[in-house]
Amino acid sequence: LQGLRTNIHGTENVLDAALDVGAVMVLASTSEIYGKNTADSLSEDSDRILGSPLTARWTYAAAKGIDEAFAHAYWCEFGLRVCIARLFNTVGPRQTGRYGMVVPNLVGQALRGEPLTVFGDGRQTRCFSYVGDIVPALVRLAEKPAAYGQAFNLGGPREVSILGLAERIVEVLGSTSSIELVPYEQAYGAGFEDMQRRVPDNTRAEQLFGFRPATGLDEIILAVAARAEDKAEIGAAGKESR
Ligand code: UDP
Repeated sequence: LQGLRTNIHGTENVLDAALDVGAVMVLASTSEIYGKNTADSLSEDSDRILGSPLTARWTYAAAKGIDEAFAHAYWCEFGLRVCIARLFNTVGPRQTGRYGMVVPNLVGQALRGEPLTVFGDGRQTRCFSYVGDIVPALVRLAEKPAAYGQAFNLGGPREVSILGLAERIVEVLGSTSSIELVPYEQAYGAGFEDMQRRVPDNTRAEQLFGFRPATGLDEIILAVAARAEDKAEIGAAGKESR
């Protein structure tokens, strides 16, 4: 419920405030809105394939979709200068595992010499991008009038399986940890549905302002590990609603 309220009413409040003061707004949206679409390359116009709105994961995707519709309507009807960024697994230093985020979780486990918990069979894939590549892109978007009223994918260029990610983390950090496959039910409770794949087509952002995320996976892993200020803290297990 809190997630729904924050995402829907919170976004509406921010849109109204931006309109009041004439601000430019960047709406941080998410690749989650594409849901179960496992296309080789998701463009901004790709279809959304969502499960039941009574399932928490799809509730989040539905709420973010409504946020986007609100933002678009404010642009169309009031001329609010708002652009929509669809973020794909943005990761980096000081990110916590509070929302179940896999990179800080697994890096924390590797640093502590604990088994790396890979959920399901580990064959699900993601495209990770580095926060240091994404934040400047958000600023560039806000500066481009051609971006207003539109959505832009901002994601990493390389697809990696979660098992492959775990292996890379062990290798890059020289960890002694093993890798353990944990059934979804044990990790998230009954009824959890994971996304199998999520690959961005970044062409629109590339054409608008030359978006080309440069930081590779090994560099990302090293940056997250280097800034793990409290190794006991990062990577707390469990996934809260967002
Ligand atoms: N995951 C995992 N171990 C963890 C945390 C997550 O295997 O300790 C998996 C999760 O099931 C998903 C992927 O890693 O398949 C990415 O999860 P995350 O929560 O980082 O992002 P999202 O699911 O939103 O893409």
